[in-house]
Amino acid sequence: MTYRWETPASVWQEDERSGEFALLASEGLGQVDWQAGARGRLPDVARLLGASLPTACGCAPIYPEGFAFCPNCGKPLRRLPGTPARQPGWWGPGGESLLPRHVPHGLPVTSLPLGDSLEERPAAPHPGRPDLAMPAPPNALCVFAAAHYGFPEQRLLALAHTRGVLQYWDPAAALWHVLAPDEGAASLAFTASCYAWLPVAEPRRGEVAIVPTSAGLQRLWINPVSESYRTETVLDAPLVAAPGTMRRHIACLALFEGRVRLWSARPDTGAVEEFACPDVPEGGWSRPIGYDGRLFWLHEGGELAWRPGAAPLFTPWPPGWQPRLDFGGPTQSRDGRLWHIGHDGQGYSFLELGSEAPQRMPIDGARLGFANFLFRRGHPVLDEPWSGEHVEDQNQDDTLVLPLLRAFNNNRSQPSGLVLRLHKYTGRAEEALEARGQGRVIARGTVEWIGRRNVILDEVIRLSHPLACQPVVYDGCLWLHHPDWNLMRGWRLEEAQ
Ligand SMILES: [Zn+2]
Repeated sequence: MTYRWETPASVWQEDERSGEFALLASEGLGQVDWQAGARGRLPDVARLLGASLPTACGCAPIYPEGFAFCPNCGKPLRRLPGTPARQPGWWGPGGESLLPRHVPHGLPVTSLPLGDSLEERPAAPHPGRPDLAMPAPPNALCVFAAAHYGFPEQRLLALAHTRGVLQYWDPAAALWHVLAPDEGAASLAFTASCYAWLPVAEPRRGEVAIVPTSAGLQRLWINPVSESYRTETVLDAPLVAAPGTMRRHIACLALFEGRVRLWSARPDTGAVEEFACPDVPEGGWSRPIGYDGRLFWLHEGGELAWRPGAAPLFTPWPPGWQPRLDFGGPTQSRDGRLWHIGHDGQGYSFLELGSEAPQRMPIDGARLGFANFLFRRGHPVLDEPWSGEHVEDQNQDDTLVLPLLRAFNNNRSQPSGLVLRLHKYTGRAEEALEARGQGRVIARGTVEWIGRRNVILDEVIRLSHPLACQPVVYDGCLWLHHPDWNLMRGWRLEEAQ
């Protein structure tokens, strides 16, 4: 004999014999295969649903939403909150929607007030350690999203986009789970270009993002109760470059009948436009950067700039000039123009982006960074991107600073953020940044916060492929992930919450 319980969002079944509750269906999750839900998952599932958990009896391991007392023995239950979480999500570069317009979008820049918390730690040269560790996702080459996806609590996802494996972190069980594709779900693999996903501002339950795949643009939904995901096709055409947004238009590069076209849509009106992009490469693009009303995709061969409503324009780089895309990304001059670093065979220079007659500013050496968070070896570059570096400590001549994340804060005159400092490195920046196999192994590095005061957060021994270091903000912590590490390192952000 079973009883059926209906709550505003879910349908449950109570087994009269055991007194236990099974979830049959829930809003946004559809029919639920409860048998698959192992008991170890229930504390996490209860928090996702806003269900109730026992406090003083062992009659059942989980109760429907809103239950305040155990119907069997009358003992009190713990009712978990059911309204979607409000804290801002994390989507990596390009997922930040709260930045002002004068900051380029699509770069590793965050408006979360990380510095206010991290700068309370002992200042350099005091060596710091992480507060926490969590296992790295089993498919470690991945991108992260931490958001509530319409649920009452934030959850962390790690998408191994080269393999199309979606991994879900169960914080109660402290385990990664691989989510299985529902029948008919698209493969999530995307390898043609750099990865970027488009977060959803007001997600419905389970709604994650609009994601690029090798077959098209897909809307991704997760079902953490059934440990599965499903997709909805937004654009059915092989993608060439990751999507971006500009003034309520989403846009990406895709192949239509073997030719690259720029596809754009207005999610609010459904209006779709397509533009020819003759003679542009079919892969190897940067993630799009939004600035000054335009989206820019950068490539070893040139830049593609697009203003909503107009035809996109591909401009090859000047003859002999090669961009250094690994050095970071576009940066701005004081007059608001956008620039990228490159090399013309003789020396480095900054080239103006988005101009028909671009200006070039020569510089005396490599500069790493993006969005005005720039370093020449171990010294910050302030003022203009081509200004002389600001030398505070001569000893930093033999270090190389790689910016990982800039924290945007209107109240600060100097940029602050997270960097990796490679010690005793006097070789070329290109060699330190090269991909695995050919790249140098750096004997010693430090993870540092550069701000009102500089803080050493941790030390890294034997680091290769430093560009693979990825910061993530999740659950009130700043985390750092590298595919070579078994553990992600975490620093608590009490003030930021
Ligand atoms: Zn009870």
